[in-house]
Amino acid sequence: SIDVQSKHTFESLMIGQKTLERLKAAQFDRPSPVQAKAIPVGLLGRDMLVQAKSGTGKTLVFSVLAVENLDLRASYVQKIVITPTREISTQIKETMRKVAPPGARTSVYVGGCGHKLNMIDLKKTRPQIVIGTPGRIAQLLKLGAMDLSHVDFFVLDEADKLMDDVFRDDINIIINSLPPIRQVAVFSATYPRNLDNLLSTFLRDAALVRFNADDVQLIGIKQYVVTKCSPMLEKLTHVLKSIRYVQALVFCDQIAKCEPIASHLKSEGLDVTFVSSAMSQKDRQLAVDQLRAKRVKILVSSDLTARGIDADNVNLVVNVDAAANEETYFHRIGRAARFGAHGAAVTLLEDEKALKCFTALAYRGKVTVKRVARVENLPSD
Ligand code: ADP
Ligand code: MG
Repeated sequence: SIDVQSKHTFESLMIGQKTLERLKAAQFDRPSPVQAKAIPVGLLGRDMLVQAKSGTGKTLVFSVLAVENLDLRASYVQKIVITPTREISTQIKETMRKVAPPGARTSVYVGGCGHKLNMIDLKKTRPQIVIGTPGRIAQLLKLGAMDLSHVDFFVLDEADKLMDDVFRDDINIIINSLPPIRQVAVFSATYPRNLDNLLSTFLRDAALVRFNADDVQLIGIKQYVVTKCSPMLEKLTHVLKSIRYVQALVFCDQIAKCEPIASHLKSEGLDVTFVSSAMSQKDRQLAVDQLRAKRVKILVSSDLTARGIDADNVNLVVNVDAAANEETYFHRIGRAARFGAHGAAVTLLEDEKALKCFTALAYRGKVTVKRVARVENLPSD
């Protein structure tokens, strides 16, 4: 059964009183981890991509978001959920019904029964929430039977399956019928590579909420590389003093470099500590805990310790060398997007040789990294 963390309550997630009461009545006592993370992000109105295994409670995330600011007096479609199968559409309607205010109108439009019935329902029910499969929704749009120009919340559920070629044209038709200002929320159990391409075309500044720590995702992380960074410590200091961030991680490839880097930054007045695999497990943990507890703003680390670092507020990663390989690079910069990804990763390179290595790495890793000539040219936030 679903993992319901005891440390969170629905009351702490910015959900309105009425919805809270309905959650309680439906016997959703406590939020699952994905609900605790994703609902507040969604309530802020941000586009988002939520990736978590099946059975983790993703349906309730978008159901709560859909009903929170529903205009019950209006008779146009305000929320639309697209999902690959009829069965899931029906299940979503059930969840939606539990949390929706009395009088909210929800309709399901899927293949299998004739579209004429859907057209009658659109006129008669005038749903505010529509749930359906890509083919049928696109068909209703092509027939001019449904108007999505007032939609403010658009959900793709089971997005990994919706990426299938057979759905592509229909999904495009649906997206093109949405107004330019709307919130998009995408839910997926896995994260196939081709998701990036599609999503980057219609998600804006998306927050990323993911729960598979090992497969690093880079949506929302702006990547930069700066060449001719010499003297390195001076350039690093400049970056850490001029860019705006909550907390930062600085990575270097050698254990022996961590301490000198940290002490230089400290001498420059920065709030910093370091961790390296030369330290005892206990001291490492201590340093990481300091970061997590926000008692320190910057942590300098070698690659070997990167894996253990899990800090929600880090939104800047600075590499003081090209990572040894793509995997290491992804691992480093993935730390900038643990929650509500809106981070930046800056790689500082001393010479042409390092740039060659890094360019090859970026090519193999299929990442787009913006090259800037001087640290002064980096955007400040
Ligand atoms: P997913 O879409 O992530 O695969 P579902 O949204 O289908 O998962 O949820 C899986 C099951 O967990 C459903 O039966 C749902 O009713 C139940 N569930 C979801 N959230 C909660 C919660 N906060 N408390 C108890 N049960 C929950
Ligand atoms: Mg689901």
